[in-house]
Amino acid sequence: MKIAMIASEVSPFAKTGGLADVLGTLTVALERFGHELCVIAPAYRPVLQSSFRMQETSFNLSAPIADRQVSASVLKTSVGMGVDVYFIRADQYFDRETLYGTPAGDYPDNAERFAFFSRAALELLRQQPVDILHGHDWQAALAIVFFKTQADRYPEIAAAKTVFTIHNLCFQGIFPPAEWPLLNLDPTCFTPQLLEFYGNFNLLKGAIVMADKITTVSPTYAQEIMTTDQGFGLEGVLSQRSADIVGILNGVDYGQWNPWTDPYLTHHYGENSLGAKRLCKAGLQSALDLPDATEIPLIAMISRLTPQKGIDLVEKVFDSLMERNVQVALLGSGEPRFEQFFRDAAGRYPGRVAVRIGFDEPLAHRIEAGADFFLMPSLYEPCGLNQMYSLKYGTVPIVRAVGGLKDSVQDYDALTQTGTGFVVNSHDPQALLDAVDRALTVYGDKTVLTAMRRRAMAMDFSWDGSARKYSNLYQRLSS
Ligand code: ADP
Repeated sequence: MKIAMIASEVSPFAKTGGLADVLGTLTVALERFGHELCVIAPAYRPVLQSSFRMQETSFNLSAPIADRQVSASVLKTSVGMGVDVYFIRADQYFDRETLYGTPAGDYPDNAERFAFFSRAALELLRQQPVDILHGHDWQAALAIVFFKTQADRYPEIAAAKTVFTIHNLCFQGIFPPAEWPLLNLDPTCFTPQLLEFYGNFNLLKGAIVMADKITTVSPTYAQEIMTTDQGFGLEGVLSQRSADIVGILNGVDYGQWNPWTDPYLTHHYGENSLGAKRLCKAGLQSALDLPDATEIPLIAMISRLTPQKGIDLVEKVFDSLMERNVQVALLGSGEPRFEQFFRDAAGRYPGRVAVRIGFDEPLAHRIEAGADFFLMPSLYEPCGLNQMYSLKYGTVPIVRAVGGLKDSVQDYDALTQTGTGFVVNSHDPQALLDAVDRALTVYGDKTVLTAMRRRAMAMDFSWDGSARKYSNLYQRLSS
């Protein structure tokens, strides 16, 4: 089948989060099932400045924005064996310092930028027809909406089926009515049944209402988004589509995340050679200016510093946590108040708490290898990747029972000697501390700890299984 992925980010060309990783790896995995894949993404500045070979194409696209026609050219490169990656080049929209906005807020023309991106993607597909049009997140939602409501404009792909994936329901693309004319949609679309959302219009909602199938990135999250607790106001619309919603857990690229082969590590290890993990720990402690104390458990976090990741819960328990004999390493960036908290914590607990504010891929790998435990008590978590990396690195995760965390980490049971991590059921400081204490008890028994690490490392979250589920979904849609 011919499948077009329309998305705002794709690794390794432009990335702010897990969306990019999924696009970069799922497409390559799907290709192995014999499908013909292409990705369509904006030509952001990192793409224009990329060291990857970009080819100018002869496509000249033109698409309407309000009463204007806006044009774009198309750059092309490829990933995997032959996945074409097309970048829509319209420098006035995409050649900017960052993808979506500045610390002061979102770019004021985001509705126009992504309306144009979606229109341009469809124009490109008119010249390169596909069987499946697969949009991701709010930035590509309008591609589904335009296609479904204005089929006469896109006759070449009229037979295509549509899939829409929600990577994080929190981000919906909500804009005021004054921006509606940019879209050139019929006024009947501005209704509560379609795109209207409490007086504004909501792009994600439009795609949820209209796509043939909706997927999200873990089975548990697929259920959670239909609840008031986690539906971000869209639980009703999602519940109406429940028969067409499926949760497919994201996969991990073990080509990049494997302690046997990881190029960022000076020592390599596997399930049966865990000794070298101790050397990774010593190396990490030294890199972070922590005392090289093998016996002291090292708890790590690598995270965007936002409430979603349970950072306020960590704040609440932090001093109690430090009453235990532990070291803590944090790598992350995000909300200034959280960055400040951790900087202060490093000052308050010298030699016990190491904090690195920023984005540092090599250090992320070294932390995964060197730490004993990985703390990820998210408030909500569509899928989460770090806990799956931690499992592979034998770094036992301590997580909350939400979304993809619940689907990938099994709680330790001392009686049956099963489980790959410590799972907390409630968003409660004491519950989190109890889980840490359970983890520290296991840490004290090296035989139990080693067996647990081995179980964790044996888990397989590679893309093959998940890609097969997407492949089956496409097949069902087209038959
Ligand atoms: P989300 O996409 O919600 O931020 P995920 O766990 O799904 O969370 O994916 C985050 C990705 O970004 C992981 O690959 C993680 O290692 C990486 N990451 C997050 N923060 C940092 C950081 N400060 N430095 C390096 N990598 C980071």
